[in-house]
Amino acid sequence: MSLIKCGMSKINQLSMIEISDLEAIFKKIEIDFKDAPKLYISHELKNYSNIDDKAFRVLVAAVISLRTKEKTTWEVSERVFNSVKNFKDLNNIPVEELQSLLVPAGFYKRKALQLKTIAAVCLSDYQGKVPETIDELLKLNGVGRKVANLVVTEVFDTDGICVDIHVHRICNRWGLVVSKNPNETELILRDILPKKYWRIINQRLVIFGQNFCLPINPKCNNCFLNHKCAYAVDKGFMSS
Ligand code: SF4
Repeated sequence: MSLIKCGMSKINQLSMIEISDLEAIFKKIEIDFKDAPKLYISHELKNYSNIDDKAFRVLVAAVISLRTKEKTTWEVSERVFNSVKNFKDLNNIPVEELQSLLVPAGFYKRKALQLKTIAAVCLSDYQGKVPETIDELLKLNGVGRKVANLVVTEVFDTDGICVDIHVHRICNRWGLVVSKNPNETELILRDILPKKYWRIINQRLVIFGQNFCLPINPKCNNCFLNHKCAYAVDKGFMSS
């Protein structure tokens, strides 16, 4: 079997996990990880029924979460939202105060400036609301495809695939895609993935990636997919 480079590692070129397998895989992950800690963004989505409040909090928390551990995202986001309830508050808060609320999130100084700019643009161009399309969201300072897709799918219920580092890594390990970065993975998935999976793939693979298919030392020995996953087959795990 030939090997090809896929960015972070070499995997087998033959994909043994098929699109037709995904229904059962996503169901099993949902059941097996039902007690895994909830993500902050999911928690926020459930807590707010007003779409403007929800969009504001998901966008701000998503920016805070970039290159930041989930536990820190929870702590920092809660602290920020105690002081800042909407774009007007975000626009008014002094940048130094916002920076101190954001510590210890990664790149907190840069994020404070980005969030201030986002607030100013949303107030001046979008009547104090979050823009609703990926193209408009991408114009906001610090917002990349991952955050834009997350907002449109989870808040506005429109088409998108939110590919973070877990979705990117696992799709490459499975052999579903061969790509160098999450943006490339998203574009391939948009081609091959039926729309019914566009939202769910993020929900399932983030939990799976945080708890089992870890970036380093994935638990292939005990994985229900080790007879199909290209990465595990290549490494010689074929116990099932
Ligand atoms: S077999 Fe290993 S690499 Fe493949 S999905 Fe399972 S844990 Fe991840």
